[in-house]
Amino acid sequence: MRDLIYLDYAATTPCDPWVVSQMTPYFSEKFGNPNSLHGYGEEAAEALADARGSVARFINAAANEIVFTSGATESNRIAVTRGRNGKTVIAAKTEHKSVFDACQETGFFVLADVCHDGMLDFDKLAEKLGEEIGLVSICMVNNETGVLNNLKKIADVCHEKDVLVHTDATQALGKIPIDVQDLNVDFLTASSHKIYGPKGIGILYYKQKHHRLLRVKNANHEVEFGIRAGTVPVSLCVGFGAAVTLASQKQAEDYGRISSLRELLISELQNNLDEIYVNGSDTSFYPGIVNVSFRGCEGEALMMEANRICVSSGSACTSNKLTISHVLDAMGIAPDIAQSSIRISIGRHTTEEEIRIAARQLIEGTLKLRAMSPVWEMIKSGVDINSVFSCRRK
Ligand code: PMP
Repeated sequence: MRDLIYLDYAATTPCDPWVVSQMTPYFSEKFGNPNSLHGYGEEAAEALADARGSVARFINAAANEIVFTSGATESNRIAVTRGRNGKTVIAAKTEHKSVFDACQETGFFVLADVCHDGMLDFDKLAEKLGEEIGLVSICMVNNETGVLNNLKKIADVCHEKDVLVHTDATQALGKIPIDVQDLNVDFLTASSHKIYGPKGIGILYYKQKHHRLLRVKNANHEVEFGIRAGTVPVSLCVGFGAAVTLASQKQAEDYGRISSLRELLISELQNNLDEIYVNGSDTSFYPGIVNVSFRGCEGEALMMEANRICVSSGSACTSNKLTISHVLDAMGIAPDIAQSSIRISIGRHTTEEEIRIAARQLIEGTLKLRAMSPVWEMIKSGVDINSVFSCRRK
């Protein structure tokens, strides 16, 4: 594994050793159930309250507005299925699959368009808002492109029509400042393993006045303010709290360094290759997620060529059918460009040397694949490749 260069921080991050050290006592030594009334229970309850307080402070919420969940997938599900108040949900076409799954579960949802740069199309959203809409769910930072939506504006537009707003901030927490009072969102989702904390723990923030919407009806084994059942994994909550504490110290520094590394990566690629495209917004993005298309190469083939670097591809080849990313598709990116995309995500531990090596591998891989590609030949001779090959869309 030593030779590998990890550039997939949007998929997950390594749990920080200090975070692990904070969690460790809560497995075997301080193992109590926070609901128990004895000393062990009290100790666990105190640790849980501290962790909740840390997360709440970090996003300017009150402690009783934070529910610990098993991760962002569950938080999204709770927010979408219950936060809609029995009405229809609107979600952007670029949302994470877990939001779509939750929308499908409701049976009442509408998809909202995004512009070519991946930002929500406000005019089209405004047209869709009406009495039958209960909730709008829009990602803060897109997990494939890094596009950063203007949630404050979205919340203003929706609240004017009495529609609640949920944001999936899984790729935003710990990377850019979040203040839920300022954003004025009603629900917010986040996950610990994206910010150097443990896997299997997330949060759902909710405005206190919406508590009744989220409460489980007729549950006998409810904890977490009646919103979720089951014994709370205190060690994981402590880990999330510690990861947030670390993020509050490192967020600004990380952001600056990651921005410079992004610029280095893009300039290395652009200086050495033609026909490469950075997908997403030029002006509103989180710099740690870079989605690049290497025209004339399949994203997955390029990943195999550049096999020292750990990245994600935007396309997926299943059962001999190539499907393209629903995010790039929604942005109206041509299928051949979308198929050639790779998501490179930079994190706290990425170095300049790693970026230079990764860029070199990607450049060499692209040149090699293009040299043997009849498709690249056709592109170079001006053939409209998308009208020649039909591409099955997800
Ligand atoms: N939403 C977004 C935007 C994500 O990037 C992810 C993780 N890929 C999730 C939700 C799901 O997160 P979790 O693994 O915590 O369930």
